Amino acid sequence: MQSEEIREKLEDILPKVSKPTRYLGNEMYSIDKDLDKQQINFLLAFPDIYEVGMSHLGIKILYHLLNEEDGIAAERVYTPWFDLEEKMRELGIPLFSLESKEPAKNFDIIGFTLQYELSYSNILNMLDLANIPLESENRTKDDPLLIAGGPCAANPEPIIDFFDVIVIGEAEELIKEVVDIYSQWQKTEDGKEKLLHQLAKVSGIYIPSFYDIRYNVTKVNSFMPKYSDLSDSITKRVISDLDESYYPTQWIVPYMDIVHDRINLEVARGCSRSCRFCQAGMIYRPVRERSQERLEELASNLIGKTGYEELGLTSLSTSDYSQIKGLTEKLVEDYSDLQVGISLPSLRAEPFSVELGKKVQQIKKTGLTFAPEAGTQRLRDVINKGVTEKDLIETVQAAYDAGWKRVKLYFMIGLPTETEKDLAGIVSLAKKVAEIGKLKVKVSVSTFIPKPHTPFQWVSFNRMEELKDKIDYLKQNLRGKGLSLDWNDPALSLLEAAFSRGDRRLNQVLIKAWQLGAKFEGWSEHFDVSIWRQAFKEVGLDLEKYVYRDFNLEARLPWDHIEIGVTKDYLRREYNKALAEEVTLDCRSTECSGCGVNQILDVDNCLVGGGSNNED
Ligand code: SF4
Repeated sequence: MQSEEIREKLEDILPKVSKPTRYLGNEMYSIDKDLDKQQINFLLAFPDIYEVGMSHLGIKILYHLLNEEDGIAAERVYTPWFDLEEKMRELGIPLFSLESKEPAKNFDIIGFTLQYELSYSNILNMLDLANIPLESENRTKDDPLLIAGGPCAANPEPIIDFFDVIVIGEAEELIKEVVDIYSQWQKTEDGKEKLLHQLAKVSGIYIPSFYDIRYNVTKVNSFMPKYSDLSDSITKRVISDLDESYYPTQWIVPYMDIVHDRINLEVARGCSRSCRFCQAGMIYRPVRERSQERLEELASNLIGKTGYEELGLTSLSTSDYSQIKGLTEKLVEDYSDLQVGISLPSLRAEPFSVELGKKVQQIKKTGLTFAPEAGTQRLRDVINKGVTEKDLIETVQAAYDAGWKRVKLYFMIGLPTETEKDLAGIVSLAKKVAEIGKLKVKVSVSTFIPKPHTPFQWVSFNRMEELKDKIDYLKQNLRGKGLSLDWNDPALSLLEAAFSRGDRRLNQVLIKAWQLGAKFEGWSEHFDVSIWRQAFKEVGLDLEKYVYRDFNLEARLPWDHIEIGVTKDYLRREYNKALAEEVTLDCRSTECSGCGVNQILDVDNCLVGGGSNNED
């Protein structure tokens, strides 16, 4: 079926599905090039619905970056919701791009972003809807080249059967190199193996089919590159200078509400706080900041063009951006007349955050969110969350004095070494916060998931029975005026835990689960853990063994060939310090903590103002 016929059929069926705007395309600043006149057509795929995918910064960057090149067209596709998928299957409509309604199968390259493990089943569903063979070994030169990148590529092993190429690290520079190599190859009679071999030489590119890996339950038994010119590990690609790197000067304006409907200005990348549970804090190192001048220029451009009324200053820890005070003041001064609100989505629990919050509240009133993560100082030291009870109470008091009425507190349960005292600590801390004036306090509890490339990568996921008891305890005890509690379903975390520290054998589990009906796993109402238990069983694996496994500190791990920049020695040291309840300070304001990033990636922390943070 070709795009014209798809368009005609959509005219009939879109009025009959929920939220048809998801599939229209043609938004302000979307780009619709003539695909027949391009040398390379690139489809950017997000394995979740439009509202979620449209809020993702990475796709926006790559979309505009690729479209600014002559001879390249980039289009988007998101996962169709159940109702549209049903109609598509009934009428034989293949997965199509948003812009030109071109079947996904006709694109040269399809790039999926891997944001969370629970979206993996949607990838399979999208490939199937596109009539593209799921496994790369069954695809030929006539099929699109399948690429994946994003945070989950830090351990891509559970999904490598479906992709030809995995991008490790930041894609802004690398993606053009991939497209160049692809377009040269396209003009030859060479087979796919030759293309992959050329791509394998690009820094940051991992070709999984070129590595043979065998396992037992808790370790890698053998690891063997297929060609002698391949490296034993694939080093993450990083941008050294954010000011020089590409940032869109246009921003697609959707017709419908999306999850984060605002302009996002990425003020910095990376975080060096060293929270020991936090994968982002390890895999996005080193810290690199954009200059205030560049951010002001981007803000002016994007606000002027789009008319958006909210500008988010984003990074892993926005209040750590060295110029945050000056930048916030300037943006408030420049845009308050236009009623543009400035939002600061990630603030540390420190009075400085309230000061910042006060500045942006001159325009818009929102609640404040802080993440102490653990209920006692002992456990906060174990996880290296450098927030004290005094910090939190003083911060919330300052927020209350400044007129805030609502505070949200994030905690985790199931952390290594957690005891009943730590749970009681969550209750008592939340109650102390609620006692400040008449604050409404929402406590949000998630389950700790051990992640690759972190100091807790070796430890088991907490047992489900214990997690359920912990949630029951919090439900019974976190009561009182102004207090409310929400928690996530630990069964979802169980699956995420299996895949985040998983290995290649899980590819077959994924296929089986998808065949049994798994999709939209991140949506709790569509998640059914029994499907996954059955899938594991049918391929002869044990879900529990995958989740409740401690790796030996010296063993080779399934993701050890992915060189993220942080050394295993550093992670081991951090793990041992965690058990000794010792903290590690932020290397931006103290000495180098020896994580290895500056040597392995040859890029240092880059603070635009130099020196320590939050300086006047
Ligand atoms: S402050 Fe901690 S939790 Fe936040 S991004 Fe940095 S390392 Fe992660």
